[in-house]
Amino acid sequence: MSAAPVIEALEQALSEGHIDVQGTKKFNELNASYLLRFESDIGPAAIVLLEAAEDVSMIVKTVKSFVINSQTIFAIGGASQQPLPGYASIEGSITLDLALLTGIEIDLDNYIVLISAGECWGAVYKKLSKHRRGITGSRSAKGGIGGLAMADENLGTPSNNPLFSMNHSSPY
Ligand SMILES: Cc1cc2nc3c(=O)[nH]c(=O)nc-3n(C[C@H](O)[C@H](O)[C@H](O)COP(=O)(O)OP(=O)(O)OC[C@H]3O[C@@H](n4cnc5c(N)ncnc54)[C@H](O)[C@@H]3O)c2cc1C
Repeated sequence: MSAAPVIEALEQALSEGHIDVQGTKKFNELNASYLLRFESDIGPAAIVLLEAAEDVSMIVKTVKSFVINSQTIFAIGGASQQPLPGYASIEGSITLDLALLTGIEIDLDNYIVLISAGECWGAVYKKLSKHRRGITGSRSAKGGIGGLAMADENLGTPSNNPLFSMNHSSPY
């Protein structure tokens, strides 16, 4: 399964600088950012850096037909702190890197925090502590919002305890 057709389609759909193909300096830097060396040893064909939620929508529309026709599969990387290989990278495939999707909004009156998918828990704790508020998230400040929010008993700490973060998430 060659990734070339889907890379070409993504290059046409996205503005320049979003896609880094295997072998470039930036690709190597991005692929080295995983917590686990075993994950960095996996070689996707390209890494796509998303800068806005609209990019996610654009990519889903672009890759949809390729995925339906089994021409590609893709991995999602949040803060890349999952300590098991193969969860956020697939050999020869496309990785969508969410690290640039940042932003934390605090609604003090309603006790709600809106956190963008590329943020880490440490940034949220830091911002909330200025208001003398807290939130239940990852024990590690480097842990990602996306990975923890999507976690089940295989990825993170099971959230069957009312103190864990998923039990505190609002529907969206
Ligand atoms: C030191 C340490 C402490 C930890 N403490 C805790 C803890 O207190 N509680 C707990 O529950 N877990 C904990 N974990 C586990 C951690 O929360 C999970 O590994 C989590 O998946 C990390 O999230 P990430 O975004 O950094 O991971 P990534 O490696 O980027 O992603 C992990 C998985 O989530 C998927 N994913 C990420 N973002 C999205 C998204 N926006 N949409 C769809 N899928 C997405 C990825 O595709 C991948 O499969 C800890 C891990 C470490 C290393």
